[in-house]
Amino acid sequence: MTPDTPEDCVFCRIIRGDLPCEKVFENEDFLAFLDLRPVNPGHTLVIPKQHYPDYLSMPPELLCAFAEPVQRVAAAVMDVTESDGWNLLQNNGAAAKQVVFHVHFHVIPRNWADDGLKKSPREELTREETKDLGKRLRAALE
Ligand SMILES: [Zn+2]
Repeated sequence: MTPDTPEDCVFCRIIRGDLPCEKVFENEDFLAFLDLRPVNPGHTLVIPKQHYPDYLSMPPELLCAFAEPVQRVAAAVMDVTESDGWNLLQNNGAAAKQVVFHVHFHVIPRNWADDGLKKSPREELTREETKDLGKRLRAALE
């Protein structure tokens, strides 16, 4: 698989506004939005606005700054979804199941009843449910 270029990268297209997303947080350098195929409702992706294919390609200072929005988003996801725990996942390379080659962290709320880290079918959450979740997360992140 060829890593995406900024021109055809799905996340860069979201950042440019060419593709929609349910945004929950944004600052100068980072953007967070709901995953279209959540493992659980509230599964959020946090990405830098600048295109870096993976963790190792990021400048160390930006990588350090990445921790702050990830922590804020995770706190909001836990608060809004009232989950029992959460996973922070970050995949690098196709062999590690990286699908979009624009570095991102997955914040995944988990519950005791979970049956694993499986992606749900796209239609599992209705558009209304996704919008409602986005609204509650944005409010928690204000
Ligand atoms: Zn990109």
